[in-house]
Amino acid sequence: MKIVNPATHKLLADIPADTAGSVAAKYQRACEAQVEWARTPLTTRVEALRRFGALLTANADELALVLTREMGKPIKQARNELGAMPSRIDYFLGETAAVMSDEVVFSDGDPARPKLKEIIAHEPLGVIANISAWNYPYFVGSNVFVPALLTGNAVLYKPSEFATMTGLRIADLLQQAGVAADAFLHVVGAGNIGAALLRQPINGVFFTGSYGTGRKVAETVAPRLIHTQLELGGKDPTYVCEDVDVARAAEGLADGAFYNAGQSCCSVERLYVHKRIYDAFVEAFVATVDKFVVGDPEDEATYIGPLAREAQLDVLASQVADAVKHGAKVRSGGKRLDRTGFYFAPTVLANASHEMQVMRDESFGPIIGIQSVSDDDEAVRLMNDTDYGLTAGVYSKDSARATRILRQIAAGSVYWNCCDRVSPRLPWTGRKHSGIGSTMSHAGIRAFLQPKAWHLRGA
Ligand code: NAD
Repeated sequence: MKIVNPATHKLLADIPADTAGSVAAKYQRACEAQVEWARTPLTTRVEALRRFGALLTANADELALVLTREMGKPIKQARNELGAMPSRIDYFLGETAAVMSDEVVFSDGDPARPKLKEIIAHEPLGVIANISAWNYPYFVGSNVFVPALLTGNAVLYKPSEFATMTGLRIADLLQQAGVAADAFLHVVGAGNIGAALLRQPINGVFFTGSYGTGRKVAETVAPRLIHTQLELGGKDPTYVCEDVDVARAAEGLADGAFYNAGQSCCSVERLYVHKRIYDAFVEAFVATVDKFVVGDPEDEATYIGPLAREAQLDVLASQVADAVKHGAKVRSGGKRLDRTGFYFAPTVLANASHEMQVMRDESFGPIIGIQSVSDDDEAVRLMNDTDYGLTAGVYSKDSARATRILRQIAAGSVYWNCCDRVSPRLPWTGRKHSGIGSTMSHAGIRAFLQPKAWHLRGA
């Protein structure tokens, strides 16, 4: 696999990819390792994952640079991703014992010699496939492999082909941290190798990526009835009410839309602004976006780097052309930048409407449409007019009003006066084409366990 720097087009590495045969061999090794790994005391597994967290911190600068070079994330944002890892890992370290422990749900008669006892036990799924995306490889990978390993599963981890070097570093650090050699194995390659992994008799698949691929994954494994979780794309809306501090709301939302060059599953992708403040909001938003420093991702000052994937430049250009055709005004950017690297200018499209692709299809880039709305009901209708359902937000001073609106929105996460935010304590879950299942929170630990119901009758 040729790994190319998206900022310079320079070859970074040439890494041998797996083959269908090597994937099958890795599956066999993982199967054997899983039995032993599940028998390893939880405290030992916890200590190994704790050391992994410490190794990430100790190596953060080097790891951030690898990530920046292979996918173009500005170096400060790469460090932020690594900096947020310890608190995520700590959550899982702290909560797994409680989620895994047996629950006595019924006990009849003398507690020392019950006539009938009913217990729910939790067992690992077995060997799971973790097929991952590139945009936040530490976050989206660890949301799966950390709780999977803690709960006694073996993991076959396929990093995205756009974050392979990061995937290799993760595998290396997990081994250094003391995770049993074959309990975590990485698989290198593009979609064909992901497909080869799915052909193995795995016990579960945890996929992060686009709706199109997620659907293929679900269709492939459906006949086998294995545990399937899909964390997919979004077209996440925010509604800005007329009572907000316009400058503050614009600043926060511009960051939510353009951080990581808009390549976040929960980036703000559509804005609905109350007509009374529409013009003022657009002015403030454009003023913020125009101050963003676009440049070399290795430069500390850079806020927007190149896109990770060249093909997405055409998607964005076509969304701009379609929006202009339907009456949008390009208030900032609007095209690929004339420089080496996969750079698209941060783009603000005013006068947006739902006839435009930019308000309907995931953009996954530094571009946003802003539409004027007359009232809360119109905002609710438009926010729900989507195939996706990952996150949605409302900016308003009035908590009762925001709550009333957000209760009507079909999304897995809702935000009041914030956006583009993830917490390990809350389930990360999508509705409609944004996916099925949850990572993080207790639900995201339980996802790697299967219940066993014990019916015990004394002699
Ligand atoms: P993608 O669907 O192109 O690829 C995801 C992974 O699937 C990669 O590892 C790829 O190699 C693999 N793959 C491709 N074809 C396959 C096949 N036939 N069988 C098995 N595996 C296959 O997505 P991407 O470009 O890596 O990521 C961007 C998408 O991910 C966006 O839609 C984004 O919104 C979404 N995403 C969602 C979340 C979330 O938490 N909901 C988080 C991050 C990214």
